[in-house]
Amino acid sequence: MTAGCLFIMSAPSGTGKTSLVRELINNDTNLCLSISYTSRSPRQGEVNGRDYHFVNRDVFEQMQAQGDFLESAEVYGNLYGTSQCWINDMMHSGKDIILEIDCQGAAQVRKFFPQAVGIFILPPSAKELEDRLLSRDKDSTDIIRKRLNAVREEVSHVNEFDYVIINNILENAISDFASIVRAERLKRGKQLQKQENQVLISQLTSL
Ligand code: 5GP
Repeated sequence: MTAGCLFIMSAPSGTGKTSLVRELINNDTNLCLSISYTSRSPRQGEVNGRDYHFVNRDVFEQMQAQGDFLESAEVYGNLYGTSQCWINDMMHSGKDIILEIDCQGAAQVRKFFPQAVGIFILPPSAKELEDRLLSRDKDSTDIIRKRLNAVREEVSHVNEFDYVIINNILENAISDFASIVRAERLKRGKQLQKQENQVLISQLTSL
């Protein structure tokens, strides 16, 4: 089985990465999104198992102690983590994986998977980001303030990523992301892992 690609997607809060990633996985059956565990309470409209696995802090910390997470981090006062078991299963299935995680988590994942492809999403402007966060009305003003303060810190990690997408027009950002996925799948290393391509090369080199 050919190992899939691992994409790490990070962005400041309010950049629209959730809509972007949903569109991508709906249009590409070989791409799957890791559903993180979090100690954060669900927001209105969020569904357990679809948006996150919502668990209380005690359960999260127990899972952490058991080594259930590939990576975990505290973001805006809540705990978030990626299931190690799910990642192992998906990797064995050959699927391409997207992790939608913060920069602390991205750094931990790169230690285990240096080949992971990092994609950083930026909003079109600071004003736009501020407006998006304020109009979302999903979080308290205190949390929104925390998120705005965290933008500078998140964006300071942009150099750790391989690609940057500006999410101005959603369709364009989707197309940019899909181009990156396609290019990564076409890399020589990936192509030559495939049995059929190895056969092709050996046939062509024995002509
Ligand atoms: P939100 O609560 O707005 O859904 O997410 C807050 C932040 O937590 C975002 O920056 C998001 O990327 C990050 N996040 C979500 N899941 C994970 C995870 O599993 N690990 C890490 N490290 N960060 C995560």
